[in-house]
Amino acid sequence: MTHQLARYDLLITGGDVLDPAAGFDGKFDVAIAGGRIAAIEPSIDPARADRVIDASGQIVTPGLVDLHTHIYWGVTYWGIEADPVAARTGVTTWLDVGSAGAYTFPGFRRYIAEPNRVRTYCLLNLSSIGLVAPSWEFQNPNHWDVDLAEKIVNDNRDIILGIKARIDPNTTRGVGIAPLERARELADRVKLPLMIHFGDGSPTLDEILPFTRPGDILTHCFRGGDNAVAKAGEPVHPDIKRLHEAGLILDIGHGTGSFSYATTEAALADGFMPDVISSDIHQLAVQGPMFDLPVTLSKFLNLGMSLPDVIERATGRAAAAMNRPDLGTIKPGSVADVALFRIEEGDYTFYDIQMASRKGTKLLVNTLPEKERMIWANLPPQQEGKQRRPEEG
Ligand SMILES: [Zn+2]
Repeated sequence: MTHQLARYDLLITGGDVLDPAAGFDGKFDVAIAGGRIAAIEPSIDPARADRVIDASGQIVTPGLVDLHTHIYWGVTYWGIEADPVAARTGVTTWLDVGSAGAYTFPGFRRYIAEPNRVRTYCLLNLSSIGLVAPSWEFQNPNHWDVDLAEKIVNDNRDIILGIKARIDPNTTRGVGIAPLERARELADRVKLPLMIHFGDGSPTLDEILPFTRPGDILTHCFRGGDNAVAKAGEPVHPDIKRLHEAGLILDIGHGTGSFSYATTEAALADGFMPDVISSDIHQLAVQGPMFDLPVTLSKFLNLGMSLPDVIERATGRAAAAMNRPDLGTIKPGSVADVALFRIEEGDYTFYDIQMASRKGTKLLVNTLPEKERMIWANLPPQQEGKQRRPEEG
C-alpha cells in the first residue's frame, strides 16, 4: 500500500500571497479542495491538483470585502447590480448600507441577497423607505419606525449586520438631529453597529460624534468641506482621534461626495490611516472618478500607503467591522474566496470628487477573469466590457 496524499481540486501556484488578517505575505502555493482553502505552503506538488493556475507575477488575496455599497437595483435611486462588477473587480463580499428600510427589506432579501452570487449583507436604514429617492428619507417622521425596524432586524440577522443613518442637511431637512437619536435607540435595542454618514453644514460633526459608540462606523471619514476631520497642514480633529482610540471605525466611502485628497493627505501626514477603505459604489460613482474598489485602493497606494496596509483595509479589517472575522481571509479552512491582482505600472491620473488630481504610477487590476472567472462562486462569464480605469497620461 502506498500512502495516499490528499488531492486538491485547484492549485494556485507562484503568486505573492497577501492576507494580512492571517499573516501571509510572501510566495506561497494555495490549494483548494471542496470549496475550502486546504493548504497554503511554500511549495505544493502540482501533480496533486486537478487544475493549476499559474499566478506568477500576481498578488493572491482574499476576495475583497466592500463595506459601503448600494446594490438594491431597480428599487432605489442609487442601486447597481453587484455580480457583473464583482467579476471584474474581485469584490466578493458586499455590504449594502441603508438601501433597504423596514418596508423594502423583504424585497432586498428575495430579489437581491438570495439570487446574488456575491456574498450579500446589509445595514438596515432607520428610515422605513430606505434610499428609494436620492435623499430626504427622514423628512417624514412617520418613516422612523423603530419598532418595525427592530422586528425586521430580529427576523433577518443572517443578512442584516447593522443600522445605517444618513445625517446631513438634506436627509434631515426640518427635523435636525432627531433621526440620529432614533437610530441610536434602534442600534442599542438590536445591539448592532451603527454606520453614520455625515455631510456639509448642519448637523455638524461635533453634533454627530456624541452619538457614536465603540464598534460604530463613521463613513465618508475623509470627505472635504466644512466638517472635514483634518484641514490641509493641520492634525486630525482631537475628538476623532479620541473616539477612534476607543473603537470608532473610520471608513472611506468614496462615492461621488466623499473622498478629498486634501483631507486624506492631511490625515496621512498626521500618521492617521482610515480603518476601512470602501467604495460607496452606486449608479453615479461607478461612472468615475471613483469607478470601483480596486481604483479606490490604488489612490491610497499612490499616496504612499503600503500594499499590505491597503489590502488589509478591504479584506480583514472590513470583515472585522462587520463582525464577520470568517470573511476577508484565506487562512486554511476558510471558504475558498480568492482574488488575483496585478499592479500595472504606468502614468496615471487619479481624481477626488472635486476633480482635484494626483499623478500615480500604480494601478491595482483584478486579473482573475483572464484566467479562471471567479473561483469562489463559479460566476458565469459576464458581458466583457472594458475594464474601467482612470485615464492614462
Ligand atoms: Zn453610500
